[in-house]
This record gives sequence, C-alpha cells and structure tokens, in this order.
Amino acid sequence: MLAFFSNLYQNKRAMTAARNSAQDAPVDALVIGGGFYGAAIAVYLARQRGLKRVLLVEREAALLARASHRNQARVHNGYHYPRSLTTAYRSRVNSPKFVQRWPQAIQRDFTALYAIARRNSKVTARQFERFCRDIGAPIQPADAALCALFEPRLIENVFLVEEYAFDATRLAQQVKRELHQAGALIQLETRAMAVFRGGNRRLRVVLQTGNRDERAVDCAYVFNCAYSGLNQLKGDFPGAGSIPCHMFDIRRMCTGRMKPALTLIRRLTVMSGQRASTV
Ligand SMILES: Cc1cc2nc3c(=O)[nH]c(=O)nc-3n(C[C@H](O)[C@H](O)[C@H](O)COP(=O)(O)OP(=O)(O)OC[C@H]3O[C@@H](n4cnc5c(N)ncnc54)[C@H](O)[C@@H]3O)c2cc1C
Repeated sequence: MLAFFSNLYQNKRAMTAARNSAQDAPVDALVIGGGFYGAAIAVYLARQRGLKRVLLVEREAALLARASHRNQARVHNGYHYPRSLTTAYRSRVNSPKFVQRWPQAIQRDFTALYAIARRNSKVTARQFERFCRDIGAPIQPADAALCALFEPRLIENVFLVEEYAFDATRLAQQVKRELHQAGALIQLETRAMAVFRGGNRRLRVVLQTGNRDERAVDCAYVFNCAYSGLNQLKGDFPGAGSIPCHMFDIRRMCTGRMKPALTLIRRLTVMSGQRASTV
C-alpha cells in the first residue's frame, strides 16, 4: 500500500516536472543508459537508421561505467551454457560478429580453460565435451601439465577452449569514438526520471542533471537501456514490470582458493552446481 502511494506521488511529481520544466530542443531518439547496449544502439540509430538527432543520457560521469565495465569480459562462445542449447548456439553465431565489429577491444593472448567439477556439477565431463562438439565449439582435453594444476578429487576433467575476452576500457574508447563520428549527442550525469506521452505522437522524457535541475525533452522514440535500472522510470510507461532485473548473479562469484599457478591462466571456468570462474 505504501509503495502504491509513494509511486503515485512520484508519478505526480514527474508529471508536474514534465509540464513545468525547461524544454530542451526536441530530438529524434533518446537513449536512456550509456552502457554498452545504449551506446551501441545510439551509434546504430545515427549511422544505420540515419536519425539526425540522437541523444544518449547516462547518469554516471562516464560511458560504460556500470555492468558493461564490471563484468567478466567474456566474449561468450557457447561454453557457458551447456543447459541452454539455444543460448549456446546464439553465442556461437554472435561471437565472431562481436569480434569483427569491435576488433580493438578483443583479447586473445591467454589460455582459456573450462574445468568440470566432480561433485554437484549439472554436467559431466563427457556431456560437456559432447555438447561442445554439438554446437561446433572448439574443445580439446587440457594437457597433463595443465591438469596437474587441479585437484583430481574435485575436478573430473579440464578442457582447453577457444573463448576470447574484451577489454572494457578499449571497448568504451571505440564506442565513444563512433558516437562522436556519428554525431550523437551525449549527456553525462543526467538521469532519465519519467517518460510521458506528448502531443503529436511524440514522447516527453523528464531528465534530471547532476545539480538536480529538471528538464524535459520531446522525441519520437525512447530506448530504455538502463539494465538494472529498467523499471525505475515513472510516467506513462512505468518501467518494465514483467522483466526480471538482472541485479546480482551469485553464480558469477568466485569462491574458494586457487593454486598460484592457476592465476597465470587468466581465464578459468569451473562448471559446478554453482558455476565459478575467474579472469
Ligand atoms: C557479474 C556479472 C558478470 C558478467 N559477465 C559477463 C561476461 O563475461 N560476458 C558478457 O557478455 N556479459 C557478462 N555479463 C552481462 C553484461 O555485463 C551485461 O549484459 C551488459 O553489461 C549489459 O549492458 P547494458 O548496457 O545493458 O548495462 P550497463 O552497462 O549497466 O548500462 C546501463 C547504464 O544505464 C545507466 N542508467 C540506469 N538508469 C538510468 C537512468 N534512469 N538514466 C540514465 N542512465 C541510467 C547506468 O548508469 C548504466 O551505465 C555479466 C554481468 C554480471 C552482472
């Protein structure tokens, strides 16, 4: 009940702001969230769809500062998804596209290993190997020297795989360059607060800048790329109620200790009931 009234109040506040705040020049498309997806979509809209005025708003002081920077930087090549053939297959299809599209950000100068836990794993070493062959992902048993780095009591088998990583800083640099070249407008330290239906089939977005000033911008399209902030927007399209937010994924936490030599590998994934990996 309290949440209901609080939402009602905030919505009313946002509506008043939409009516009263200073108006910025209208744009064709407004993209909320300057993570990898928002930035890449802004480039696409300006370049491929030929939209003249594309505005990207990001609440942080830099682009790609949140999940796009703080993840495990894996260019998924299918291995991670032995329990979802579709996801694995899509990763196989999209991985080369990503590598080709963002070449400066790709890192391949390391050994990538997948180790299968002996206990609690939802996949056995045999199943994992067969799954990789089914999706056409390169795989071979790791040699004796690499296997010796693992505890045989805990690890059933270790495989050498082909999976690249991306350098998030370089990715951000390339994205920024392309945004500038495409003529997209970028506003940092600017938070989208609410989206309303405006006149003439346009939308009105209420923005709040770092100093808490509120302004409104009219546009034809809004792209909500706020990831964990997807359902925080007020107004006529209150968030994405039915989309579960991906806030925190315990499977991605690395627990336990590693042998020192393993830290040289640079990318190790242990498939166990709760997957663990390290970069
Ligand atoms: C622990 C972890 C590990 C992961 N490992 C991998 C991996 O190895 N490989 C892989 O491909 N993927 C991985 N992912 C997933 C990957 O990080 C995400 O798919 C990707 O970063 C999402 O990009 P994004 O642009 O949607 O989100 P983000 O990078 O979070 O961008 C969203 C942006 O929106 C901004 N924002 C939010 N609300 C507002 C607002 N109201 N107004 C303005 N700005 C706003 C935020 O500040 C943020 O910068 C991992 C995710 C997690 C959590």
